[in-house]
Amino acid sequence: MGGTEQNYVNEAFDTNWIAPLGPNVAGFETALESYLGKGNNVAALSSGTAAIHLALVLLGVTRGDEVLCQTFTFSASANPIVYQGATPVFIDSEPDTWNMCPDHLEEAIKDRIAKGKKPKAIIAVHLYGMPCKIEAITAVAQKYEIPVVEDSAEALGSTYKGQKCGTFGTIGILSFNGNKIITTSGGGALVSNSPEIKEKAVFLATQARDEAPHYQHSEIGFNYRLSNICAGIGRGQMEVVDSHVTLRREMHQFYKELFNKREGVTVFEEPSPDYFSNHWLSCITINAAKTRFTPQEVVSALAKDTIESRPLWKPMHLQPVFKDAPYYGATVAESLFNTGLCLPSGSNLSGTERQRINKALKPFL
Ligand SMILES: *Cc1c(COP(=O)(O)O)cnc(C)c1O
Repeated sequence: MGGTEQNYVNEAFDTNWIAPLGPNVAGFETALESYLGKGNNVAALSSGTAAIHLALVLLGVTRGDEVLCQTFTFSASANPIVYQGATPVFIDSEPDTWNMCPDHLEEAIKDRIAKGKKPKAIIAVHLYGMPCKIEAITAVAQKYEIPVVEDSAEALGSTYKGQKCGTFGTIGILSFNGNKIITTSGGGALVSNSPEIKEKAVFLATQARDEAPHYQHSEIGFNYRLSNICAGIGRGQMEVVDSHVTLRREMHQFYKELFNKREGVTVFEEPSPDYFSNHWLSCITINAAKTRFTPQEVVSALAKDTIESRPLWKPMHLQPVFKDAPYYGATVAESLFNTGLCLPSGSNLSGTERQRINKALKPFL
């Protein structure tokens, strides 16, 4: 927390705005809109997952459709496809940004069309805050006229060629879950350059009430709006978002220096100056043939000193629940999963804590 969050929450209590609407919801949306840049319309929602779900609803994804989705991601990117009764088709990553490979994307689109079904949407992710190859992905998407849902849940504050992540897709989504770059305890947002899409998102997120004196519904709605209390936390968090990004990037620099001379350990970083990552999590890959230690050995050594580290996301096409879903690509995501690690990356790690990490990693340097 930055410090001012509680003032906004207190204001909600003092004015009795304890509801999924009120001044903090509007204030949080305005803060996000000005942060993301001119022309962006933001609907504050109850979670990033809800935002992806509404994005698919708004794009007309329905029973029997197919949706292309990056395989190397958290399950929340893909689950809403199934909520809609549609089928996910997973796409491998490329090694530069670890995100959706534009070539495999095009291969998949061609093959699905040849098989008789044009995919309804593309879900591209900026994983760990690293911008994906959004220009190349958008070019493929435009060629085949398929809308892009840009999952920017982990990438608030990241940019590609100076433009904020979350603002490239037909619809962008953000998450404010407890573990993200800023948090509202739980929350999310839908981003669009179209005011009509925002309006429709808010309509669907508040149970799709028709304009009538009584309760009347012509569409199926959802209870997906962000509460005024949580939005108050969000308003305070927007005052510290850039400092959180700076601190995360400092943690990344810390690991860069730590592993600087260690052959076989690669700290994940931007492939070119076009990319600016918030470095939500600092990640490494380990070439065990060179290092003679495995990622699991690092996890165990850190755990002995009560320091948590974790494997990278397990690709969706390797998940039991998605075992029957079509997949296009090779083994990039799979090998990242087998060789990678997320290291402690919090915006609040103290100097003493960094020293403890340094000491625990010494045997591997
Ligand atoms: C966290 C996350 C989500 C979902 O956001 P919630 O707010 O937790 O529902 C979606 N996609 C990715 C890549 C995420 O990391």
